[in-house]
Amino acid sequence: METAIVLGAGGFIGNHLTARLKQEGYRVIGVDLKYPEFAPTAADEFLIGDLRKQEFCSDLFARYRVDEIYQLAADMGGAGYIFTGENDAMVMHNSAQINLNIAGLAVQHRVPKLFFSSSACVYPTFNQENPESPFCEEKSAYPALPDSEYGWEKLFSERLYLTFARIHKIQVRIARYHNIYGPGNPWKGGREKAPAALCRKVAEATGGSSIEVWGDGLQTRSFLYIDECIEGTRRLMQSNFTSPVNIGSEEMISINNLVKMIIEISGKQISINNIDGPTGVRGRNSDNRLIQQALLWQPNYALSKGMETTYSWVESQIKKTA
Ligand code: NAD
Repeated sequence: METAIVLGAGGFIGNHLTARLKQEGYRVIGVDLKYPEFAPTAADEFLIGDLRKQEFCSDLFARYRVDEIYQLAADMGGAGYIFTGENDAMVMHNSAQINLNIAGLAVQHRVPKLFFSSSACVYPTFNQENPESPFCEEKSAYPALPDSEYGWEKLFSERLYLTFARIHKIQVRIARYHNIYGPGNPWKGGREKAPAALCRKVAEATGGSSIEVWGDGLQTRSFLYIDECIEGTRRLMQSNFTSPVNIGSEEMISINNLVKMIIEISGKQISINNIDGPTGVRGRNSDNRLIQQALLWQPNYALSKGMETTYSWVESQIKKTA
């Protein structure tokens, strides 16, 4: 039986990935600062610990002989966490420290394969100023100008893993995830991302009222349903493709239209009140030419279907906590 370690297994994507690896027959060791919040972990063992701490990481690598490591642990959140500026020092320091620890130990222990979750936030601001035609082809990440320190840290860590792969001959796979959403995503507390935050606002609003939406709502994004994120991650890990590749949807939508979609799902009469707030770049969309070529696969699940499931899930969470 193959053994996988999922770092960040208490988080949204890590918990889903853990479940998938278990279904596939892996023995899974989950590691995080916390247990998953919304669903129990499927991991065989779950270690609570701080991956910024060298000693904790050294013990972890010494204790298990692993076939695959999935490095998803990061200090992250939605626009309210990443784009306000006040968390920048922590975001850079915490995530870089984790990645420095893991890259070094992966080499020392000759880990056969390592996955790193990078982000669409690596792409330069100057290619994402037009909401109608953002440009996020993988090679356009250079010359670099990410719009957040979170994006700069991801770019640094991509380079760290790629350099270690080249010099120390380890196998590394890197995905640039684009806005992953679905059941289990944080929906309140300050780190939630747009789809879950908007579902919460709509679910909590009474018919005839309005909800606040950050920015003019004309900014565009694409959103990838969690199941396809996990599918893409597994396919990438099983492939021989070694460059960073987008794992995202090409179904781009403006934020106001996303809100309208959620309102329609809710069946309520609600209007939109666009207010000042952190928004990030004007437009962003996944460019799936490379993933299609490399994996002969790309996501195709409709946003409206994923949002229906996500809205019901957020609504059920609100009822649980009421
Ligand atoms: P998440 O915040 O739910 O999961 C990250 C997990 O890392 C959290 O459970 C957190 O407790 C853990 N962690 C943070 N610091 C740690 C530490 N010092 N020691 C141990 N664990 C620590 O985020 P997610 O949405 O599941 O994202 C997973 C990965 O994918 C992250 O690296 C993120 O940057 C990347 N990513 C996510 C998205 C998205 O839309 N969700 C988009 C692009 C990239």
